[in-house]
Amino acid sequence: MSGPIRNIVVVGGGTAGWMTAAALAQTVGTQRYSITLVESEQIGTVGVGEATIPMILLFNKVLGLDEDVFIRETNATFKLGIEFVDWRRLGHRYFHPFGLYGADMDGVGFQHFWLRWARQSGDWDHGAFNAETLAAASGRFMRTPPAPNLPKINYAFQFDAALYAAFLRRYAEARGAVRVEGRIATVERDGESGHVSRLVLDDGRTIAGDFFVDCSGFRGLLIEETLGAGYDDWSRWLPCNRAAAVPCERAGELTPYTRATAREAGWQWRIPLQHRSGNGYVFSDAFIGEDEAVRLLGERLDGAALADAKVLKFTAGRRRRSWIGNVLAIGLSSGFLEPLESTSIHLVQAAIAKLLTLFPKAGLDPWVVDKFNREMALEYEQVRDFIIAHYKVTERDDTEFWRWCQAMVPPDSLNQRLEVFRARGEVLVDQRELFKETNWFAILAGQGLMPNDYHAVADNISPEELSLRLGRIRAAIQERAASLPPHGVYLEKAGLLGL
Ligand code: FAD
Repeated sequence: MSGPIRNIVVVGGGTAGWMTAAALAQTVGTQRYSITLVESEQIGTVGVGEATIPMILLFNKVLGLDEDVFIRETNATFKLGIEFVDWRRLGHRYFHPFGLYGADMDGVGFQHFWLRWARQSGDWDHGAFNAETLAAASGRFMRTPPAPNLPKINYAFQFDAALYAAFLRRYAEARGAVRVEGRIATVERDGESGHVSRLVLDDGRTIAGDFFVDCSGFRGLLIEETLGAGYDDWSRWLPCNRAAAVPCERAGELTPYTRATAREAGWQWRIPLQHRSGNGYVFSDAFIGEDEAVRLLGERLDGAALADAKVLKFTAGRRRRSWIGNVLAIGLSSGFLEPLESTSIHLVQAAIAKLLTLFPKAGLDPWVVDKFNREMALEYEQVRDFIIAHYKVTERDDTEFWRWCQAMVPPDSLNQRLEVFRARGEVLVDQRELFKETNWFAILAGQGLMPNDYHAVADNISPEELSLRLGRIRAAIQERAASLPPHGVYLEKAGLLGL
């Protein structure tokens, strides 16, 4: 064990850096600890992470943010889930909603009853049993308090990442965090312990610390360039290694969801914000040239481009260790999974939550460090498998890229899942896993993998009663979705429009 921690230094002021500084300032506070964040405007941030998942509500709650203020400040829109276009086959679309399908069915997943009903009725539209899917299809949204016997409307946000970082910066600074502008030129280590001791900026200023959170982005200035953590490369399963990103003018209604459209060598995102839409083509340069991808993205926008496309390079994977000695990496410095399920900001949040749980108040304990690394490795691997499933379970074979995806051998952990789902209609998830059975069902059924069987409990009901029960559930869900106002109207009436 080392000595107690007093001076915490956050390296980097992207989304990860400011989320970390804000959370630390709010929880452990700046009375006992000094919290310093160093960032370089000259280097800049990635700044394209715009779509989130409902866990962000928890993060905002920990910070005590007023949700309406947060929405206005970041030009946010509501998000009910993700629409996947052309993933199963060209011309097909399905929705991955944030909420559950159907209703509580005697303790067994609703999909088992639905599977029996679909075989019986020949109606395979599982989306009709989900409130978010129906609301999204008609562009409707409203925050509604939970009501007995009515489906909950779950949501997350789509926001301007640069405005979010600026918002969190004001929040953290108001709570005593100190920002230093400057470019780190050298990282110095203690000769005996090997711990990072101080940062030297290129104008000669120095910043000393006991504990460093590396939020320096893809390069991993401390965790990789200084400490050589190593990187597990997952491109044998996730070959996309580039993203061209460009904002454009918004056209038409304000849709309460993110769209992911499968393309010839990857996929394109469309994220509607209040003031513009974010777009990007995530692709593999082994299957399409960079110039061609940028050109195609430009042709496939809803409105006029508002800037030149920016191309980002990455390798899917994760740092072998995110915490080494007195350096803990959060955000892109600890790994990257493409934003197909909008999980990066969640992984930042998960790392912050674990840091706070395991906060090294009395000093650095190797057991705690190991625990953090094990848990974060699992988080990344579970999200990885979920993302690979979108590529692997497809009928598309129209381009070299999609034929590659079909032929790819998935990780054993995913293979087992797919086999169990195919055979029994079940997905065996750990309780603490981010994506639950309902999420797996949405994706696997959406991609066209229909199970051969379902749980025995679903047989213990007469066909008539099954029809009656599911008919009632479907009607209640439809009524609920239809009762919501258009998303844009709600934002305006609720006073949520920003500048
Ligand atoms: P960065 O934004 O790169 O910030 C790094 C910081 O470190 C900067 O402030 C930089 O100035 C500083 N820095 C680096 N070197 C030095 C130095 N030498 N001296 C001083 N400062 C330094 N996430 C989602 O949740 N949803 C999405 O929809 C989504 N879409 C994405 C699309 C793409 C194409 C990519 C690449 C990412 C996406 N993400 C998304 C991920 C999201 O953008 C990142 O997880 C998030 O922005 C965190 O980035 P970061 O703060 O780790 O790194």
